[in-house]
Amino acid sequence: MESLKELYRIGQGPSSSHTLAPQNACLLFMEHYPNAVFFEVILFGSLALTGKGHSTNDVIRKTFAPRMCSIFFKPAYPARLPNGLIIKGFDAYSEEIKTWTIYSLGGGSIEVEEEDLHLHDEVYPHNSMIDILSYCHDHNLNLVEYVFTFDRRIEQYLNKVIDQMLKTVASGLNTVGLLPGPLKLPRVAKALHLQGMLAEDLSLKQKLSLSAYAYAACEENADGQFTVAAPTMGASGIMAALIYHYYHDVGLSKSKLIKGLAVGGLFGNIVKKNATISGAVGGCQAEVGTACAMGSAMVAFFNQQNDKIINYAAEIGIEHHLGLTCDPVGGYVMIPCIERNVVGTLRAIDSAFLAQHVGAIKLNRVSFDDVVKTMQYTGLKIPVELKETSLGGLAKEVKFDEEVNLEINKKTKDNILERYRDLSDILNEDDDMDRKD
Ligand code: SF4
Repeated sequence: MESLKELYRIGQGPSSSHTLAPQNACLLFMEHYPNAVFFEVILFGSLALTGKGHSTNDVIRKTFAPRMCSIFFKPAYPARLPNGLIIKGFDAYSEEIKTWTIYSLGGGSIEVEEEDLHLHDEVYPHNSMIDILSYCHDHNLNLVEYVFTFDRRIEQYLNKVIDQMLKTVASGLNTVGLLPGPLKLPRVAKALHLQGMLAEDLSLKQKLSLSAYAYAACEENADGQFTVAAPTMGASGIMAALIYHYYHDVGLSKSKLIKGLAVGGLFGNIVKKNATISGAVGGCQAEVGTACAMGSAMVAFFNQQNDKIINYAAEIGIEHHLGLTCDPVGGYVMIPCIERNVVGTLRAIDSAFLAQHVGAIKLNRVSFDDVVKTMQYTGLKIPVELKETSLGGLAKEVKFDEEVNLEINKKTKDNILERYRDLSDILNEDDDMDRKD
């Protein structure tokens, strides 16, 4: 598995796969081909269908500026994976220098089809929780010590991550007004926070405050402000809200928070390695489900539980998100994303609570690795309309002023669905073969 630096990426919202990844792709292209003065970009799959709502085109133009670029949206462009872009670079004589096909893998990670750029160096020798736990048992390590053994100098980086999370939530708690775009959603974090401050009942106070923190982080993300992908930007509210709560309300030290992020990150990394953290590939179970697992593990760690209970908490956190679809209204990371992060935050606390109390009575029969495998399988079965394409689900039912909604006529839409079905059939076949083996 890769370093946690590749999981917790700091950048501008609203979407790690739709803003951070394309930005990284453009920067990487310019680094390799500095003579390119003009670019043509084709967005395909989910990036084409929800790119406008996610501000992908704005980010690409800003990244290439002052150099010029033309952007085309081709949802049904034939490609190996369902989310990506083609970048063509031209020199001053309009000669094409290079073409790259780049896939957005979720969480800001990318892969370049034409060149092996060693973008995914692995630092951890194990790829499953069962192997990690068994290694820890044999070497008398806990999960924190495991991370610090293999992920060198990660503490300094996680310190930066904490600072950014605290900053993001604080900024969200102090901002009011409408979020950008035609949904005209009002920010609610500040008002909810005030309610929390006024509440006398402690449990109500905690719930309102945690909810306000998650709203704050997600509203900042939806507004295109700086945030931390954990494991994605769409799901960035859960870990940020928990970190803010444990720092400001519970009073944990930064050193303890760093350890919590390390433990939570390990579970996110396992999902990223063995399944997916991309909503376009696996639905929202891959984003908010993974974030909830990370949060559940971190909370169990803060509650001083052993690694077995931490593992159980993470498993509960993701298991009950299985099958969760991704259908952002208008392609904006707002509905259902923001509220879903709030629910995921509260669920992380509940999952840790359940693991601690039920884990004292009986053994957990479902392993974290089992759920990750199941999530991958379920993700392949989720129809393409419900995987960050905004072609179905809430994106279809919830009406709003469609100022920037993509103009997809029936023919184009049918082509897209056909193209995706082909891809989905291939993936399902591969999966079935894997299972027979
Ligand atoms: S529904 Fe979930 S996966 Fe889809 S964009 Fe929103 S947060 Fe991301």
